[in-house]
Amino acid sequence: MKIESLLVQGISAHNNPYGAIVPPIFLASTYIQPAIGEEQDFAYSRGGNPTRNQVEDLLGQLEEAQYSYAFASGMAATSSVFQLLKHGDKVLLNNNIYGGTFRYLDQLFESRGLEYQLVEDFNHLSEEHFDLTVKMIFIETPSNPLLEVTDIKRISELAHQHGAVVAVDNTFMTAYLQKPLALGADIVTYSATKYLSGHADLIAGAVLTNDQAIGERLKVIQNTLGNILSPFDSYSLIRGIKTLAVRMDRQIENTHKLIVFLQSQAISVNFAGAHSKEEAAIQSSQATGIGAVISFELPEEYDLSVFVQQLKMFPLAVSLGGVESLICHPASMTHESYSQDLREKIGISDRLLRVAVGIENSEDLVADVAQALKQAKGEI
Ligand SMILES: *Cc1c(COP(=O)(O)O)cnc(C)c1O
Repeated sequence: MKIESLLVQGISAHNNPYGAIVPPIFLASTYIQPAIGEEQDFAYSRGGNPTRNQVEDLLGQLEEAQYSYAFASGMAATSSVFQLLKHGDKVLLNNNIYGGTFRYLDQLFESRGLEYQLVEDFNHLSEEHFDLTVKMIFIETPSNPLLEVTDIKRISELAHQHGAVVAVDNTFMTAYLQKPLALGADIVTYSATKYLSGHADLIAGAVLTNDQAIGERLKVIQNTLGNILSPFDSYSLIRGIKTLAVRMDRQIENTHKLIVFLQSQAISVNFAGAHSKEEAAIQSSQATGIGAVISFELPEEYDLSVFVQQLKMFPLAVSLGGVESLICHPASMTHESYSQDLREKIGISDRLLRVAVGIENSEDLVADVAQALKQAKGEI
């Protein structure tokens, strides 16, 4: 089956005793053991739950991954991946990453004896960045909020030559647009809160891999930390995933129209592949679309607060990937865990706005931005 079909039919109705067309929600925390010393499929819901198993199986099929784990949040997924590291290990990351991932590095790495380095341009990562302590490369592509694109294949080859594993946070693209494992990465992480769920009504994460040692270790980590996705949220996530392809198609279409409009107003837009010909070529070789997050610096002639306040169809809110469009101000909202100095250094200015484009009518979206720009310029 192609991915559009897998999204809908990856979970067979024959997987449950009654042929229910959607998977049942198993809420039980514990299960009867047939007799002392006898094995059972399910014993205690932290270790395994039939509804969670279904979403894990579905995510595994989408990503073509043998090992798949659903977590309570994207951060639970990311932190479980960092649990694979040992005292003295170092991680290289791109310099604009999800704010929560940065907070983990900034607040928890030191006490765990771990080190990290933010690399300015991952596409120019070279031998010099590696020493014996570098054990993991963590890539977010496109990055948040500047939408910089990293070449997953090249980095994976380089990392493997130096005995490091590559983890890719694929939240912005999803398996519908980009499959990091097929490009050579070892681990994929998700905030399933975003596009996979698609409706801004649950918090979830996932980690996938085809590496047996890593897969088995992650199972132990998930069961030990207990940062599992609940049965109810597992069900909701399955429901959301079914419409991923149609949502994403519309969101990308709307995104292209907004980009054209903003550019026509002499506003320079960050989107996956916008930064250079090189990044555009990487994006089109490793993904089948640009996704639906863009960012831009509002030029000085516009009043930033007025612009945001006057938008009717873009509520000011963090997060992305839902059916509704949203706007956010990274410097004060998603990336407040970065110091002002670091933000300035990597280009997250106080005038930067990030837009997550929804599935609404594109003419309505463009008209809304147009009127808000006029108001922000004092023209109406
Ligand atoms: C939201 C997000 C996360 C964190 O996910 P939560 O579900 O909020 O814990 C991680 N990475 C990226 C790229 C995100 O957008």
